[in-house]
Amino acid sequence: MTDRATMLLDAEQEELRQAVREFVERDVAPRVVEYNREGALPDDLVEKAISMGLVGGVIPEEYGGSGMDYLAWTMCVEEVARYCTALAAVIGYPSSLVGQGLLRWGTEEQKHRFLVPVARGQQRAATAITEPDAGSDAASLRTLAVAHGDHYVLSGQKTWISNANVCDWMLVFATLDPTQGRKGITAFVVERDSAGIITRPIAHKLSSRISDTGEVFLDGVVVPAENRLGAEGEGWQILLASVGAGRLHVAARSVGIAQGSLEMALAYARERHAFGRQIASLQLVQAMLADMAVATETARLLVRRAAVEWDRSAGGDDYWTSLAKLHAARAAMQVAHDAVQIHGAYGMSDELHVERQFREAKMQEIVDGTNQIQQLIIARRMKEMA
Ligand SMILES: Cc1cc2nc3c(=O)[nH]c(=O)nc-3n(C[C@H](O)[C@H](O)[C@H](O)COP(=O)(O)OP(=O)(O)OC[C@H]3O[C@@H](n4cnc5c(N)ncnc54)[C@H](O)[C@@H]3O)c2cc1C
Repeated sequence: MTDRATMLLDAEQEELRQAVREFVERDVAPRVVEYNREGALPDDLVEKAISMGLVGGVIPEEYGGSGMDYLAWTMCVEEVARYCTALAAVIGYPSSLVGQGLLRWGTEEQKHRFLVPVARGQQRAATAITEPDAGSDAASLRTLAVAHGDHYVLSGQKTWISNANVCDWMLVFATLDPTQGRKGITAFVVERDSAGIITRPIAHKLSSRISDTGEVFLDGVVVPAENRLGAEGEGWQILLASVGAGRLHVAARSVGIAQGSLEMALAYARERHAFGRQIASLQLVQAMLADMAVATETARLLVRRAAVEWDRSAGGDDYWTSLAKLHAARAAMQVAHDAVQIHGAYGMSDELHVERQFREAKMQEIVDGTNQIQQLIIARRMKEMA
């Protein structure tokens, strides 16, 4: 099958893509079923991703990163997600949900203290927005920050936080005044070992089983004023920027899921026989494969279009980011679903990649803004552009 993943990449980006593909096919693909059964992402794979500069992503070299452009970074995330979404997330977070706020609002001192070790893979971080009663409606978050001279005191609860139990620090969004809505929201870098923080793992998940997710309880946590990111009340802008980059990351991850599922379905359709023929020669199977290719290729094109906007200007263009996130997440879901269908009963077994990719696909339609939230953003932008 022609490899369309090269599309729109220059020679340097294509060289990087080949190196990532080689790493994934040599080191990840043969082990991914086994380590998912065992329930942990092997440290040596993370180390290798760090040494290849994948974790450094778009963070500039002066802040410990690899200084990639967004097109190259999304392509790396896609290549890794063909087989392992957990490793793709490790590559994605520093440049997106976790590091984007520090990159754009951090002081030099904050960048050197918090961003550099994360970009180098020496530390892990989390971003805590979601609360038990505030998900899509993030502006209604209730975690309270009370100013006391040279420090703030944070109290509240967060949930469904990636890396909550394994991070060195977390970017916590709190409000100085719940009656102020978005205007009260302020961002803080909170060190994980601060007194008053308890985290609890969320287990038995449909997706993301080998990645940490947890609840966070903040009970009178003292945060020095120098750990406030941006100005008081500037948190909403930081939140939008963090989640915006997160959406680009999730969109790229979704293309990887779709691509990996499509390749596996095609290979299986060529080897499996029914009614005396390869199932790949049955027209109803061909129709599924054709629809899977359309979904995957269009999703990739949209992700590259959105990435180009991020390379043009900080924060990209939320119209293209949301189009890419919505379409790619749906594509991942559709393609992974049809890949299981083409595998018949074998698609139900965790011995094959399609079962895992099917479970991972669902998550992409929820995290960093559900499909419905992307639809609302696209419609709002269309109204503004009309
Ligand atoms: C594995 C995993 C990891 C995560 N990691 C993080 C993390 O690191 N940090 C973090 O802060 N959060 C994280 N989240 C949380 C995630 O971002 C939220 O789940 C997501 O924003 C949706 O919020 P919710 O689950 O509360 O759903 P809700 O907001 O309660 O939505 C429920 C349903 O209502 C729909 N809905 C809501 N509002 C509207 C509307 N206005 N119009 C139409 N439909 C609407 C939604 O689309 C959805 O279908 C994670 C979640 C998962 C599953």
